[in-house]
Amino acid sequence: MMSDMRPFKRLPTMKTLAAAFLLLIASPSFAQVLAIRAGTVVDPARGSSAKDQVILVEHGKILRIGPKVEIPPGAEIIDLSKEWVTPGLIDAHTHMTLTELEGNAPFESFYLNQSSTLRGLRGMHNAQLVLNQGFTTLRDVGNSAEYAMSDVRRAIDAGWFLGPTIIDSGKIIAPFGGQSRDIPPRQGAFWRFEYIDADGPEEVRKAVRTNIYYGAGVIKLVADNNPYHYSIDEFRAAVDEAHRAGIPVAVHVYSGDALDNAIEAGVDSIEHGFDLTDAQLGRMKAKGMFLVGTDFPRKHLDIVGTSGGILPEPAVLAPKIIDRLRRAHRIGVRMAFGSDTVIDMPGRTRADLMFDYLAVWREAGVPPADILKAMTFNAAELLRVDKERGSLREGLSADLVAMPADPLSDIENLRKIDFVMKDGKVVRKPSGSR
Ligand SMILES: [Zn+2]
Repeated sequence: MMSDMRPFKRLPTMKTLAAAFLLLIASPSFAQVLAIRAGTVVDPARGSSAKDQVILVEHGKILRIGPKVEIPPGAEIIDLSKEWVTPGLIDAHTHMTLTELEGNAPFESFYLNQSSTLRGLRGMHNAQLVLNQGFTTLRDVGNSAEYAMSDVRRAIDAGWFLGPTIIDSGKIIAPFGGQSRDIPPRQGAFWRFEYIDADGPEEVRKAVRTNIYYGAGVIKLVADNNPYHYSIDEFRAAVDEAHRAGIPVAVHVYSGDALDNAIEAGVDSIEHGFDLTDAQLGRMKAKGMFLVGTDFPRKHLDIVGTSGGILPEPAVLAPKIIDRLRRAHRIGVRMAFGSDTVIDMPGRTRADLMFDYLAVWREAGVPPADILKAMTFNAAELLRVDKERGSLREGLSADLVAMPADPLSDIENLRKIDFVMKDGKVVRKPSGSR
């Protein structure tokens, strides 16, 4: 009806058009520039910090950073002048789609009664929770049903959901049996819901190619959960295939021969490595190999027990982890933070649980600067994303977090993260701020 029609808005005059045009050409580009006033910027690569910095963000990337950066007119200003700003955190060993059952339940329990869809939804839920608390990149190393985490990554990359950068492994590759033991033959090889059985170098090659085909950004092998384990040649086949495709190899391994073989074959990271000797740590250091120690806090181990026989008893494992972490740090092995959090606790998010690992690193005598480096710069290097993330430098993605206290004086201050930016998007702001 005519009466519903609004009158035309008055057309802009030539004068206002000219003014708008001048504003547009005055700014470096037509995109909105964000200007962060940072009280202190922490550089984990150097273990140093700088006061009163300005960070300009445009198109999701850091355009400028420094003390005398001019804020262009029209930029949206984010006031973090009372905060400490660090690169977004990275966890190099997650299982976002998995929650293990409590006590000594059979390890298979968690995947026998949950669909890949439910696992994917859990993965997205956890990924968003941990992003909100500061983890802007995750390396998810398997146990994600039928490539459920690969789909979580695709959904985030498509922009359907806000989430962290995810690098996932696809299915875990292992000698026959995956991480199952003593399953009667009658049941069949049902662990293949979660694992690819691969025995001999050619089967390992095929498994690596299968995962790469489905989008894996890292290859994960489980080396020693059975009385038999991978040979040097089997590891070499995995390394050869993965490196040819430009992606690293992560190996779940605890001890002994399997550990020697993985180090000799030149894999990229040892995951867990609970029984690493000083000699083995020395060889890892010489090769520039990473340790992703998954240094479980005792209270988490008490919930998961032996994980159905996969782990030693908590009373044995907990002190061993602290001792191995202390030795690895003393010897100077490169370390990337990886939590391997696989439990839920009422009233606590998965990120709360990931921060529980900080106490273990402190107890092992690792200084806050080295812990923060393992959670940012080092992890980015292991994940091969260091040209994009893990540092606050011009040209890198604007993945950054802030907190109202100095993480270099107490690493537990990471729990106070109240500002999160992911690829230039504000995920979270301090309450009460504009
Ligand atoms: Zn794990």
